[in-house]
Amino acid sequence: MKDYLIIGAGIIGLALARELKKAKPQAKIIIIEKESDVGFHSSGRNSGVLHAGFYYTSSSLKAKFTKEGNKELTTYCLENNLSINRCQKVVVAKDESEVNTLKELYNRGIKNGVDVSLITQEEVDKKFKNVKTHKLALYSPTTSTVNPVEILHHLKKELLNKGVEIKFNTPFKESMKYDAKKIINAAGLYADKIAKSFGFSKNYKIIPFKGIYLKYDFTDKFIDTNIYPVPNLKNPFLGVHFTITVDNTIKIGPTAIPAFWRENYEGFQNFKLYEFIDIITTEAKLFFLNSFHFRDLALEEIKKYNKKYFINLAKSMVKQMNEKGFQSWSKPGIRAQLLNIKTNELVQDFVVEGDKKSVHILNAVSPAFTSSFPFARWVVQNYIL
Ligand SMILES: Cc1cc2nc3c(=O)[nH]c(=O)nc-3n(C[C@H](O)[C@H](O)[C@H](O)COP(=O)(O)OP(=O)(O)OC[C@H]3O[C@@H](n4cnc5c(N)ncnc54)[C@H](O)[C@@H]3O)c2cc1C
Repeated sequence: MKDYLIIGAGIIGLALARELKKAKPQAKIIIIEKESDVGFHSSGRNSGVLHAGFYYTSSSLKAKFTKEGNKELTTYCLENNLSINRCQKVVVAKDESEVNTLKELYNRGIKNGVDVSLITQEEVDKKFKNVKTHKLALYSPTTSTVNPVEILHHLKKELLNKGVEIKFNTPFKESMKYDAKKIINAAGLYADKIAKSFGFSKNYKIIPFKGIYLKYDFTDKFIDTNIYPVPNLKNPFLGVHFTITVDNTIKIGPTAIPAFWRENYEGFQNFKLYEFIDIITTEAKLFFLNSFHFRDLALEEIKKYNKKYFINLAKSMVKQMNEKGFQSWSKPGIRAQLLNIKTNELVQDFVVEGDKKSVHILNAVSPAFTSSFPFARWVVQNYIL
């Protein structure tokens, strides 16, 4: 009999196994993963940004773990020779109406103990090229980018060396009997479904939001840092931004377009009729109720399928760029965003539920990649051991 069975080999499942092994080196751990390797879903399809931790209100789990997670993953990359681009970040305001939110982000950052400062356009110009802001920008020196897939593979190797068993091509099925003292559900886009089969996630349901990106194909490096807009703090998305990947490719995105089934990446890939009906019904309800301004969000996001519109959003954050360089779409990702079905609101923070037999990680949305190590440690200490 195994001590722990973990469902899902995303960053959360792998980080949980790593922390469990640290806390209990003798523990027998198995991870089951429905795909043939790591990195097929969110953990391998994100922006690869190690966030600094200033977006989140101080009482949240996100605030508690992002700053520390950034530090730990940075060290992990440096110690294991994994790629990291310490290109930092600025959040820019487009007009006067956004300056107050910028200040709010600064205050949150200070409260969360994050290294952030408000700097003028002149100071921005001294640090970075081609960034445009209105009056002030928020500067984050600890934000960087990593290669998420490389990190996942490294973690997989580390866990296999430590005696953790990982079974690929092995989907969790409700009907099967599993020989483990405790089951830990880190199944990303399917975490709510699995949780429900254990009697959890009663108030929640995952709504998938698709993030698409455009990649710059020309060779001029017209920016040298990550550039983000001021987000709408009422929803959990950060807005279309520029990121610079570890190999110095410039990307814009991701969007937050409501998807129609959970793994609705491209075309009819992974289409499931019952999921489609279920999700479209929920989204139609949210659209008519206009809960959390879902209608406005959906209509705004859909516009971003139009390349020109999408590019123009990013263009306003730089002094100049050659928009013709943004021709190719790059790999999309889908957020496993939790909806509270009682209040019809999107859940902002990570959610964990469980009892003696099972633990369920719900709403491991951004920045859960950044936060994964300390978040997993906290889950192990508080819900698993
Ligand atoms: C577009 C986008 C951009 C993002 N950008 C960032 C960023 O820059 N920085 C950051 O920190 N975070 C970012 N995130 C968030 C981050 O990617 C996620 O929070 C994180 O990857 C969640 O990890 P996970 O392990 O919970 O999920 P996943 O990576 O989805 O892993 C879950 C795993 O469970 C498996 N699984 C599902 N069902 C079953 C089953 N029945 N049986 C067995 N296995 C199953 C899946 O195949 C999958 O491998 C972004 C997310 C998206 C979508």
